[in-house]
Amino acid sequence: MNEYTHILVALDLTSDSNQVIDRAYALAQANNARLSLIHVLEPLGYAYGGDIPMDLTEVQAQLDKHTHKQLKALAAEIGLGEEHTHVLIGRPETEIHRFAEENNVDLIVVGSHGRHGLQLLLGSTSSATLRGAKCDVLAVRIKS
Ligand code: AMP
Repeated sequence: MNEYTHILVALDLTSDSNQVIDRAYALAQANNARLSLIHVLEPLGYAYGGDIPMDLTEVQAQLDKHTHKQLKALAAEIGLGEEHTHVLIGRPETEIHRFAEENNVDLIVVGSHGRHGLQLLLGSTSSATLRGAKCDVLAVRIKS
């Protein structure tokens, strides 16, 4: 019996993403599992609050479009179509958990930097993802 049926890989779209996606892809192949790629965009309003007296809707829409393109390109590199990619808006760990629960994900794959100290070992998003997850979480060690 295959252990995992639906694997979610959370990508921050930095140059580290290839290492994380490669591991998730290998696991998906080995388990014959579905693979979903997601990136979470934080709304611009979170960062700037009401401090900037301008409408950020258009900028947000451009950012969204650009992010979809990036994710689609990464998926294409491993032979996956756009339907495997999802750009979500909100706080990364919250959206990762929500997507996982709503889509019967049984393994979440995130990256982990080899920083020193307990707090920095996993990174803030990866440790927050691990804390609230209702399924397995794999932290892929990022090699510099
Ligand atoms: P960090 O906590 O920023 O060091 O990120 C660790 C890992 O969390 C990354 O390698 C990704 O797997 C995941 N991650 C961070 N930010 C995001 C994001 N905005 N969307 C999806 N995944 C993310």
